[in-house]
Amino acid sequence: MLDWDALVNECSNCNKCELGQTRLNIVIERGSRNAPVMLVGEGPGEQEDRQGKPFVGAAGHLLDNLLEALLFKDEDYYICNIVKCRPPNNRVPTEEEAEQCLGFLRNQVALIRPKIIICMGATAMKYIVDRNSKITQIRGQWIERKGYYIMPTFHPAALLRDESKKVLMFEDVKKVKRKLDEFNNI
Ligand code: URA
Repeated sequence: MLDWDALVNECSNCNKCELGQTRLNIVIERGSRNAPVMLVGEGPGEQEDRQGKPFVGAAGHLLDNLLEALLFKDEDYYICNIVKCRPPNNRVPTEEEAEQCLGFLRNQVALIRPKIIICMGATAMKYIVDRNSKITQIRGQWIERKGYYIMPTFHPAALLRDESKKVLMFEDVKKVKRKLDEFNNI
């Protein structure tokens, strides 16, 4: 396992897959490295690629609003993605790209040791939970694995396309807030 400096350094110089050739910036993280809640998306989009931070575009604003509405504090969460480089035209990362990048995510999980992992969308669910499950079937239900509580939910970009998913994602993330409050004995 690499420490933070080594991990950032190795990520920043990574060319293990072809996404390394087209990225503007590597997108590793935002939020608190001491957070009990880790949120995992798919991969950087255009804004993220430009700014080097995950979820800073329209989907990110929606996510921030959701977390704020549910009274999450800045120190409560850490946000990252399955792949750290932007796939061209925001296509879904290939299995090979995801596999090459998963070591970095495992390293992030090992360093953060979150209590709760929120998988946002089908790609996060595929690589963290189960390659065959459907988001619509398993979202909103706790999965306990290797000492982590995992909550699968929609990707915030899906909410931009379909308003009716907003209330469902709100319910899912509310469950996370409730569990966090239990951990914190509030
Ligand atoms: N979508 C993602 O999955 N991740 C980001 O960082 C931005 C948009």
